[in-house]
Amino acid sequence: MGGQNDAMSTALQGQSDEIITYNPATGEEVGRVRINSADEVNSVVDRSRQAFQLWRQTSFTERRRLVVAAREAILSDIDGIAHLISRESGKPFGEAISMEIAPVLDLMQHFARSTKKLLSPKKINIGLYALMGRSSRIVYHPLGVVAIIPAWNYPFSIPLGEAVMALMAGNSVVIKPSELTPLTGMKIGEIFEKAGVAPHLVQIVTGDGSTGDALVKAKPDKIMFTGSVATGKKIAAEAAKNLTSVVLELGGKDAMIVLEDANLDMAAAGAVWGAFCNAGQSCSSVERLYVHEKVAKELTAKIVERTKQMKQGDGSRDDISIGAMSSERQVKIVEDHVANFRESGARIETGGKRCASPHVSKGNTRGVDSDTLFFEPTVISGATNDMRAMRDETFGPTLPIATFSTDDEAIRLANDSEFGLTASVWTRNKSRGERIARQIEAGSVCVNEVLYTHGIGQTPWGGFKNSGRGRTHGALGLMELVQPQHIHVNRISLFPNAWWFPYSPTAVETFRGFATKFASGSLLKTAGLLPQLVKRILEVRNWKG
Ligand code: NAD
Repeated sequence: MGGQNDAMSTALQGQSDEIITYNPATGEEVGRVRINSADEVNSVVDRSRQAFQLWRQTSFTERRRLVVAAREAILSDIDGIAHLISRESGKPFGEAISMEIAPVLDLMQHFARSTKKLLSPKKINIGLYALMGRSSRIVYHPLGVVAIIPAWNYPFSIPLGEAVMALMAGNSVVIKPSELTPLTGMKIGEIFEKAGVAPHLVQIVTGDGSTGDALVKAKPDKIMFTGSVATGKKIAAEAAKNLTSVVLELGGKDAMIVLEDANLDMAAAGAVWGAFCNAGQSCSSVERLYVHEKVAKELTAKIVERTKQMKQGDGSRDDISIGAMSSERQVKIVEDHVANFRESGARIETGGKRCASPHVSKGNTRGVDSDTLFFEPTVISGATNDMRAMRDETFGPTLPIATFSTDDEAIRLANDSEFGLTASVWTRNKSRGERIARQIEAGSVCVNEVLYTHGIGQTPWGGFKNSGRGRTHGALGLMELVQPQHIHVNRISLFPNAWWFPYSPTAVETFRGFATKFASGSLLKTAGLLPQLVKRILEVRNWKG
């Protein structure tokens, strides 16, 4: 496997044409999948295009039936799917249900019900042109083959949610799951099989970055990518060669601002969950907490106390709140960032190191150079924006805390980042919270809430700055999966247009009137143009050429 990247410490190469995935909590093998070659990927995309030709003709009712059946297939095996997600990614079993399965089921019911309405033809207000008997509407066409290339951190909900939206819009789908979580990706294929999907309408190709690259090169009609900024740039560059349009959901360094009037118990509980759920491996994890200096000590103490109470271990157990990280590479980044905080003068309040797990089996075959992929949830005080670890994405269980003294300073610190995915503001004063929220450069900003809005399928998801391009979810996300077409009709086609040939002094005088009167948008002003317009239309009508 030539292009194997170093993220694959829990998904190692077995035979040269297969990937083996290991449970990050125990080191035990979860399963193996083939690495699809570029030729195979090309054939998959060809077959997908054929399936699209049939699927595009289906009614919304038929599409809805498929999505409802897929929901039923998931509902009949919630625990089985959650255990697979947990074993492949290391996240707690309960969290696989709360943060992946439940939200995607909700998204499925929403788009099964609402896509017809969201994609119904829309009349456009064309102002004074309407008085001339013209009307305009937008109708929406599917795009064709939608390629979905997700990351490993939400290996079920992200690709499945995007697939459902693409299918409801009339597209066919090819998913290339992350090399760390291919079996969860395959499970999505099985769910659609169970639901009675048409042949080749939903296909899964497995492999690493080279398989993803082959999928991009196979000229799908849209690419939905979730992953790092570096890979996003590569994909955008490759896709540009064919003018394939791309949605990029990239990294984050999300800020949480706690004002002096916030409910500190709520803020502390929100911060701990926002920073440590999925072991901090969410694109929208709280990676920077800015607290007003007056309440910094109190909030930090509450956060540390809650963090110390968290149970860490094998995510297959119901009472575990924080599981293993997904890969050795991620743990190394966290170790590096914690070291950077220490060296730069910040203080480790709790955590700060890799920890042992009682569940790691002897003779662990994962091949990592340390015992476990568990990293203690780590709270850091005295952080400042000039520390490297406050600037680069960590993607792990660290919660660095910095202070501010005014609202303007908090906004400036939060915006001082190349990223802008999500942020949150905590205050008892809602209007103050919203005023600050609007000044934060991020795709989603919550007031007194944190992280979870990816789980609301009705709302748009996407980043400012290096956190991405385009949107998934919500009506805006659905628009990424269709080709809008403008239909313009002239209902009173009795007279020629005044702007047609021949040009003449009368024409030029009329065109001046268009510029000064008609283009003002004012009916009153345009009425003054009528005599000139009639003269001009007669000129065009009587012209023999
Ligand atoms: P990654 O960029 O390493 O890989 C993502 C996917 O791209 C994988 O499936 C991989 O096989 C594939 N890939 C790699 N090279 C490729 C290439 N040249 N062409 C095509 N495909 C290629 O990212 P990762 O480590 O899997 O994910 C972590 C990153 O994802 C973090 O930065 C995180 O913030 C981000 N993320 C963002 C969102 C969001 O909604 N914005 C959600 C989840 C994760």
